[in-house]
Amino acid sequence: MIIPAGITLSFQHFPPLITGRGWDTLAFLVLMCILSFIPMIINNTPISSVQGVSLAVFLIFGLAVEMILTQISFMFMLLMLRLRRNEMYRLPLNSLIFFFVSVVSGMIYYGIGGTHDFDAVIGPSNFWKILIYLLVYFMLNTLFISVSRYILNGQKLELFTKDAVWDFIASLVVLPIGLILFILYDQLGYLSILFGGIPLVGIALVLKLYNSSQEVSERLKRAGEFGHELTQRLQVNEVLSIFVLKIPAIIPSDNAYILDLFNEKNEIHLLGYAEQGIEKKKEIPPLTLKEGISGFVWKSKKGVIFHKRREWEHLDIGILPETIESLLAVPIVRNELVVGVLILASGRKRAYEQYHLMITDILCSYLAVAIENARHLHETKQKSERCALTNLYNYRFFEDALENEFIKLQNREISTLSLILLDIDHFKTVNDTYGHQSGNDILAGLARRLERLMPAKGIVARYGGEEFVILLPDVSKSEAFDFAESIRHTIASKPFTVYSDLDDTRTILSVPITASIGLASAPLDAEDAQALIRHADRAMYTGAKQAGRNRVAKYVG
Ligand code: GH3
Ligand code: MG
Ligand code: MG
Repeated sequence: MIIPAGITLSFQHFPPLITGRGWDTLAFLVLMCILSFIPMIINNTPISSVQGVSLAVFLIFGLAVEMILTQISFMFMLLMLRLRRNEMYRLPLNSLIFFFVSVVSGMIYYGIGGTHDFDAVIGPSNFWKILIYLLVYFMLNTLFISVSRYILNGQKLELFTKDAVWDFIASLVVLPIGLILFILYDQLGYLSILFGGIPLVGIALVLKLYNSSQEVSERLKRAGEFGHELTQRLQVNEVLSIFVLKIPAIIPSDNAYILDLFNEKNEIHLLGYAEQGIEKKKEIPPLTLKEGISGFVWKSKKGVIFHKRREWEHLDIGILPETIESLLAVPIVRNELVVGVLILASGRKRAYEQYHLMITDILCSYLAVAIENARHLHETKQKSERCALTNLYNYRFFEDALENEFIKLQNREISTLSLILLDIDHFKTVNDTYGHQSGNDILAGLARRLERLMPAKGIVARYGGEEFVILLPDVSKSEAFDFAESIRHTIASKPFTVYSDLDDTRTILSVPITASIGLASAPLDAEDAQALIRHADRAMYTGAKQAGRNRVAKYVG
């Protein structure tokens, strides 16, 4: 409502000087639109050399024409930016801003005596008026944009941002060109639009190229730092969550998904993802290798860019939200094998360009290395802490844990520490009767039964041979006794199933097993770790084994 009314008013007050020059006006409009198509994007703000032409248009045709052409060419520029649906408010907002900027700077130009008369305009006394016109134009524009960002997006109220500086540089470059265009037009008419327009478009292209090469090198720098940060992480989950949370800062995206490919199992799993900067956890049933966008990338082994929803919709299997338009999907390669796929998604159409793909490719090799390092570390740790047969903690781990718990006991972080020692009865006979392999199966089966019974804070370990040890922080001696009784019962009440390896048929056998258990508690029974083990062992031997086996015995000092 404001703009049509405003334009009508300015038509009346400052009648346009286009009599008989309608086609020229149109040619200027075309030039402005072409320039709008090649904006540099700095800090999310489009900056273009349209201003040079709009200066000439203002000087030649007056305020009303300048206003209309600026409005139209700016709409073109916004269309080029492919706004998201929720950014559409920028159309009327920017339109309003340009309207006010045009009106105010035009009025000021007239106010200080500026005219459209050719000789007056190029006269030396008029130059400062044009300068003031441009300066007001530039400052008002910067001010309005800052204020609107402050109000709408809560951004800091900054007048001298990076894009304002670029805008200023751009207006300095286009000022002389605008004047030349004005003078040339007086001499050559519409041909001047061609002669002035070609170099202007050239300048815009060069500036845009320069700007985007700067952008690429800035991103590469950040990608390098990011890779460094990733490979320092020791846990797979940490690597994944840093990756999905931070990659949008390097490759502008709304969502990021990492998929794990199991070539042997023919499956794809969603390993980790973040949407709108928030990490999410959702179990999604595994896909087969050929399914979805990741399956597509797995097959082609190449990164791919989809510009809009229609291009990938047929591949989708329903993981991606409805707002997504553009996708960038890159294979994660290790030893020439595709081991995963990274998918970046954006709500904008045509959000990704070739250089995004290149940088994402580099980031994915960092990701692959970081994940492999973390997995390797995890595996090595697992191996050094656990017993291969039962997968329980081994003696070495247990010893450290015992020392740590004793320190906690001394620091009064826990009040008691109970230790249970368990030895299978007549295990030699079991081995002799059913074979060593069956004996191993029983040890593994017993380990599972123990694990199932363990309270959250307890630690169960294989002490050696057919002996197991359980550490129970903050469990009193009598509670530990009850717990040991339940263990004894769990073992004795149900025979273990094994496959006999003594005959060829490997018949299924049911083997009843019992165990003798001893326990001791600190600080009641022992003052140090070694004494605690010794005393539990003594209780087991004298109190349980010698007393007839299949029983629990407390240490008595
Ligand atoms: P008890 O403890 O009741 O006195 O009798 P036992 O037969 O269990 O005697 P002892 O504890 O002295 O013997 C332990 C036996 O456990 C010796 C060995 O054959 C067997 N054993 C130890 N480690 C393993 C193992 O990893 N696998 C198998 N299958 N057997 C093992
Ligand atoms: Mg033994
Ligand atoms: Mg034994």
